[in-house]
Amino acid sequence: MNVLILGGTSEASELIILLASYPYIKPILSLAGRTKNPVLPQVETRIGGFGGAEGLAAYIKENNIKAVVCATHPFARQMPFNAYEAAKITNTPVLFLLRPAWKPNEDDQWIEVASHQDAIKQYSLIHKDGPLNIFLTVGRMDLDSYKDSGPHFYLARTIDELTEKPLQNAFYINIRPPFTVEKELSLMREYEIDVVVTKNSGGEATKAKLIAARELGIPVIIIKRPYRPDCLHVTTAQEAVQWVMDRDNSVL
Ligand code: NAP
Repeated sequence: MNVLILGGTSEASELIILLASYPYIKPILSLAGRTKNPVLPQVETRIGGFGGAEGLAAYIKENNIKAVVCATHPFARQMPFNAYEAAKITNTPVLFLLRPAWKPNEDDQWIEVASHQDAIKQYSLIHKDGPLNIFLTVGRMDLDSYKDSGPHFYLARTIDELTEKPLQNAFYINIRPPFTVEKELSLMREYEIDVVVTKNSGGEATKAKLIAARELGIPVIIIKRPYRPDCLHVTTAQEAVQWVMDRDNSVL
């Protein structure tokens, strides 16, 4: 049974490993190709876009895909809709694997916003004489949005090293998660951070910055997740495995 996993997340990698242990299931991983040196699993992997929902539908037909799991990042805007459409066109079952969003606790100072533009608008609410020191962890592809945001200093952290550095008054760090609370605390102290700007990606690997911000009494401007198709979602790789099993009783 060929199962297409639309990946780019740790949940997708976990699902691949779990599914690969079943002899009747052939997981095929698809990546967009954004990460320079992705850690690839020992399963069939294809890299690059399909060419919209129609392209994905054609791939599903040509490769005899029996089920699709869309395990893309919570901020991947297009692929969930393409997966939903392609599944409809080909009459293939589709599941969404989406890690839960982070939730604030009573000690957090979160400012939830809908977009990067709205995040920048919140800077004026943070009281400080002079420019802010901002810890920016929105991902490489979204840094451009902060280009003309005023005289502030950015500590910009990304996974891959950047070839182009869009922010002038910034220090760039490239490092792969997970991060510890101790390291986040020391980084935020070193750069005298006034505010953290991040996306509500969820997950354990990058959660430490939120705990560190809480401990330091620093506000967090957090961008809410984009809208997704209204269909079957699970939050763990184990639940997705069960769903795949249920697609074909012969593998039980
Ligand atoms: P997106 O808006 O959903 O996708 C844009 C286009 O990239 C899609 O239309 C598709 O091209 C191609 N694509 C996306 N995911 C793909 C996959 N798994 N396999 C093959 N093609 C894929 O997503 P994005 O924000 O550009 O992110 C791209 C990838 O990076 C996603 O796989 C996502 O999981 C990962 N990622 C994104 C973020 C983020 O914050 N956005 C963070 C971490 C990881 P075609 O239409 O040509 O098929």
